[in-house]
Amino acid sequence: MSHPHSESPLLMGEKISFVAAQRIVVKIGSALVVDADEAAPRAAWLAGVAADIADLRGRGVDVIVVSSGAIALARRTLRLPRRRLHLEEQQAAAAVGQIRLAQAWSEALSACSLTAAQLLLTLDDTEDRRRYLNARATLSMLLQLGCIPVINENDTVATTEIRFGDNDRLAARVAQMMQADQLILLSDIDGLYTADPRRDPSAQHLDVVAAITPEIEAMGGEPLPGYSSGGMRTKLAAARIATQAGCAMAITLGDVDRPLRGLASGGRCTWFLPAPEGRSARKRWILGALAPLGTLTIDAGAARALKAGRSLLPAGVRTVHGTFQRGDAVIVAGPDGVPLARGLSAYASSDAEHIIGHRSDEIEAILGWRGRDEIIHRDDLVLL
Ligand code: GLU
Repeated sequence: MSHPHSESPLLMGEKISFVAAQRIVVKIGSALVVDADEAAPRAAWLAGVAADIADLRGRGVDVIVVSSGAIALARRTLRLPRRRLHLEEQQAAAAVGQIRLAQAWSEALSACSLTAAQLLLTLDDTEDRRRYLNARATLSMLLQLGCIPVINENDTVATTEIRFGDNDRLAARVAQMMQADQLILLSDIDGLYTADPRRDPSAQHLDVVAAITPEIEAMGGEPLPGYSSGGMRTKLAAARIATQAGCAMAITLGDVDRPLRGLASGGRCTWFLPAPEGRSARKRWILGALAPLGTLTIDAGAARALKAGRSLLPAGVRTVHGTFQRGDAVIVAGPDGVPLARGLSAYASSDAEHIIGHRSDEIEAILGWRGRDEIIHRDDLVLL
């Protein structure tokens, strides 16, 4: 079916269906969470979003929230000046406000019988391989347990050079890390316009952005003053990260009652389509960027399972060569020694040596702690 705008390089392809999502990351800015006059959480609005999240969970959708608001919540308590805050002031404010922010989310979600879980991440946690794997494993477990992770940047320890500084990009990294299929930015604007509609009345709304071209980048402009640290520019940076990872992204108006329900029933937004090669980008990274530090030789049964797209379990591994840590890249070789795949090992070589040949339910008794069932999860595995 041809799209009405298929002539335009900006507007191609189908609309994404929010209803079809399996795992979503929702990014919520300070202006939505915090009442600027009261310097308090906007409890009624939060209750609506919590109800939306409960509906999504009821349909089996995994939901991860990335929420700003820590700094905004503490400004008044600490009597901080109205000017742009210094980094140390922001960090102090975040330390005070994060408690209230987490409490507000916990209350809103528990009113819908949902359990909130707080994660404070830094840029390092999403860049460093081992910390990335740890954060991902924790988030996966929380989702498996039915919790709603509520994430913010760990502002108190993040200095300028090692900081996201805005939650748009943090949310995109989380979406990438968790292989979410959709990232929803609840914003103070209902999408991307050809120019800033608050300054230019002829600005046109875009329904779909198929690729983030220089022309699209130019629509970003400078952020308007106010609470939000991002503006359209960081949203486009987030779109680049998410779409390259195979995740669709939407920018939609957040300041309405039940904004996610609104999006599900066709509310106005801009969809950024996932890059066609997005899903394979991570696999290319595993293949290309990392030098393998060891080899796992597997039996014929495990080799068949791998070729069928399954994970590698310790039971199927015969030998471990090399010295590697959890998260390092290794080669997986068949019974004849021929390399079959590359992947990221969930165990250090010293631990792997003990658990190979054993069933996954024996791992805890052998190592004294319960690690992952798979020695290499299929998401971390690329067949050669
Ligand atoms: N992490 C900051 C906070 O919670 C907000 C960053 C942003 O607004 O994107 O206050």
